[in-house]
Amino acid sequence: MNRERVHILFFPFMAQGHMIPILDMAKLFARRGAKSTLLTTLINAKILEKPIEAFKDQNPDLEIGIKILNFPCVELGLPEGCENRDFINSYQKSDSGDLFLKFLFSTKYMKQQLESFIETTKPSALVADMFFPWATESAEKFGVPRLVFHGTSSFALCCSYNMRIHKPHKKVASSSTPFVIHGLPGDIVITEDQANVADEETPFGKFWVEVRESETSSFGVLVNSFYDMESAYADFYRSFVAKSCWHIGPLSLSNREFAEKAGRGKKANIDEQECLKWLDSKTPGSVVYLSFGSGTGLPNKQLLEIAFGLEGSGQNFIWVVSKNENQGENEEWLPKGFEERTIGKGLIIRGWAPQVLILDHKSIGGFVTHCGWNSTMEGIAAGLPMVTWPMGAEQFYNEKLLTKVLRIGVNVGATELVKKGKLVSREEVEKAVREVIIGEEAEERRIRAKKLGEMAKTVVEEGGSSYNDVGKFMEELNGQN
Ligand code: UDP
Repeated sequence: MNRERVHILFFPFMAQGHMIPILDMAKLFARRGAKSTLLTTLINAKILEKPIEAFKDQNPDLEIGIKILNFPCVELGLPEGCENRDFINSYQKSDSGDLFLKFLFSTKYMKQQLESFIETTKPSALVADMFFPWATESAEKFGVPRLVFHGTSSFALCCSYNMRIHKPHKKVASSSTPFVIHGLPGDIVITEDQANVADEETPFGKFWVEVRESETSSFGVLVNSFYDMESAYADFYRSFVAKSCWHIGPLSLSNREFAEKAGRGKKANIDEQECLKWLDSKTPGSVVYLSFGSGTGLPNKQLLEIAFGLEGSGQNFIWVVSKNENQGENEEWLPKGFEERTIGKGLIIRGWAPQVLILDHKSIGGFVTHCGWNSTMEGIAAGLPMVTWPMGAEQFYNEKLLTKVLRIGVNVGATELVKKGKLVSREEVEKAVREVIIGEEAEERRIRAKKLGEMAKTVVEEGGSSYNDVGKFMEELNGQN
């Protein structure tokens, strides 16, 4: 049969946590013979350019490119250059989430440009971020299938579906009263504070309803996860929520070469070779890696607790302190003499770390994570047990998956969203860090995590379930065209 080449447009929300996995996906499909085009604004295109160039250098025959969309921040009432969610903290020192909302709603400005690009290029499919619910209509206008990318697990998607349908949080005494998420396999217990349910009367809540509607009305959903890891939830999701869905992860495993792994997201604030050399000098499985994603900025008081907790634990560590946190010349977030006392034992990366390179190193024995889904999948793919420290978004659901379903996580003790201001104490940090590395339970957790990591690597190879789902998805697109 003579088929036209599949051409997929990828339209990521402008934030590292969304652009990184969508670029991984664009590379994955290019490797499988598709033409991949990423749509984004100028500043974000600059962020993506380098990793795309690195990929093209390695794979000159594969087709991947960027199309730039106009996003006039000032005209839209945003600060100049405010083209990425991760910049918002630097514009918004004392404000609430208003700037984020404005940014989120402003993205609709790109609708017309998206439509004219679809009309002229006639792609096989549009993979658009869940934050662009309006993109379904844009694609439909031209008979192009729209796929949703949520950037999270089937497990979390099922949790939020059941919360929406059964509203168990409305039937308990308070927002901190635990309840079982009704209708979901596995008796998952959570509180309203943790579930982070948007009030449907607020602007964000209304937007969220649109997101959910586009999830069911779109052609299907692509999930950065693999079937065997969460089969009960993948089946549930397929049966009750999305029309179709394909589990094609872990997407981070699309990065094969050193340069690809090292250049993921931003330029690292540490020499990658130096970092690996430091890890080489440590015993296998002895180092804890702490990172809380691309956007989270913890207050100084919390960073101090982490520092004391790490020191108290006596374990080796690499601690990433993001730009949002590492502010002010005096570094008040660091106890006096901390780095001198932990020399040889610990490494602080101020800014951006080459996370997947670090996680893949044999000296890493545990990952303290905020349970952002990319980090969670990267930890799983690296076969690591984790200390779970959810802070916002759907991260408490991800924590439940790690601690209760997969049983590869130790809960640090976070009970509510970080914005509520409750600190995790140094004692809790110390205990969780020791627990993930030392003892019989740690060993059992490590064995389970290692098995899962091996599975993750197998499913993306030829004949594996994620590999096959990519194939099935492309077949389906061919059938559409
Ligand atoms: N990341 C990284 N270096 C850092 C911080 C983050 O490479 O110093 C990457 C990480 O590997 C992941 C993404 O940024 O791919 C963060 O996504 P996640 O879903 O974990 O969290 P978010 O930033 O969306 O909260």
